[in-house]
Amino acid sequence: MTPPNRASAETRAVQALHEIEAATGAIVPGIQPSSTFARDADYALRDGFVYSRDTCPTVRHAERIIASLEDGATALLFGSGLAACATLFETVPAGKRIAAPRIMYHGVQDWLVRLRDRHGIGLDFFDAADPASLAAAVHEGETALLWLETPVNPSWDVIDIEAAAAIGHAAGALVAVDGTCASPVTTQALNLGADIVFHSATKYLNGHSDLTAGVLVGKAQDESWRELTWLRSKLGGVLGAFEAWLLIRGMRTLFLRFERASASALAIARHLEGHPAIERVLYPGLESHPQHDVAKRQMTRGFGGMLSILVHGGPEAAKRIASSTRLFLPATSLGGVESLIEHRKAVEGPNSIVPGNLLRLSVGIEDVADLIADLDAALRQ
Ligand SMILES: *Cc1c(COP(=O)(O)O)cnc(C)c1O
Repeated sequence: MTPPNRASAETRAVQALHEIEAATGAIVPGIQPSSTFARDADYALRDGFVYSRDTCPTVRHAERIIASLEDGATALLFGSGLAACATLFETVPAGKRIAAPRIMYHGVQDWLVRLRDRHGIGLDFFDAADPASLAAAVHEGETALLWLETPVNPSWDVIDIEAAAAIGHAAGALVAVDGTCASPVTTQALNLGADIVFHSATKYLNGHSDLTAGVLVGKAQDESWRELTWLRSKLGGVLGAFEAWLLIRGMRTLFLRFERASASALAIARHLEGHPAIERVLYPGLESHPQHDVAKRQMTRGFGGMLSILVHGGPEAAKRIASSTRLFLPATSLGGVESLIEHRKAVEGPNSIVPGNLLRLSVGIEDVADLIADLDAALRQ
């Protein structure tokens, strides 16, 4: 049974594509853990399933939900976000170049730096807040991949996907967007011109901090998509059936969770802006944000649950605050139902160019009055 054609993305997520099992009437998709699949009497594959390093029914079901939320043609799930990124980067030929933000999710950047240092791939960094710097980082005929992240971690600058994709395509580059912190609730990057959207599904898509997963979503099932599908199978970074099933369950509440986190983050950002202990609040939903106009256009259902604060008193004060909150847990990661606080420079290590007085907040879905009181108490210390 398939959902009515015009059901919204939110309805499709809640109903996990509304597929009632024909044999039993079960309304919840099952888990299929088999690692291998028997052929039929004509020695043909049934539904294309061979071996679970390629894919399995539960993974494919989760992929179809995500592709549908992104308005994509196809999706591939991986055992972590970084496994998805590493597989995509494997498609960039030696001698070509990648352009990426200078401040971005550091684990992905670590991979790009390794590709430059070990595998002969050029790397051009741009300032995510400066469209001219992005244009200067893309070289016609040489840049094979333009990697965007928006909003970008942990400065929350917003990149205009439509404008950036036009620049990338004019130079012949593949344009990929890390949309982890926007989630498909608020931005569909493929509709804005991107070729591929990436998410760490560990974050908002799953939303319960109980699995790691990553996903690539494609606009078309073309030659380069077949290469990615082949690479996933050969590198072997596919997601397990149980994690795929948990992810399907998590995505049922994606819209509710994201909208609640966005509303609370905006309330917290407004409360903290002008607080005497704070130098600056970085959040795309604030009128003071340098790309607020782009964010309003591109983030159609909320600005997300992620913000950063620059505190007075330097790194020591920042670390003290991060260890004084009671409700905001001092842990890395983001996009879960529980609120987290982290001193980003400490997590990224000595080479990090993130300011030492920056604290990154991932706002969860707790009572926002409790969260504000918790931050106020920690900032008073
Ligand atoms: C977490 C994260 C990643 C990496 O994903 P993992 O699931 O941790 O491997 C990439 N990009 C962003 C923006 C992230 O937040």
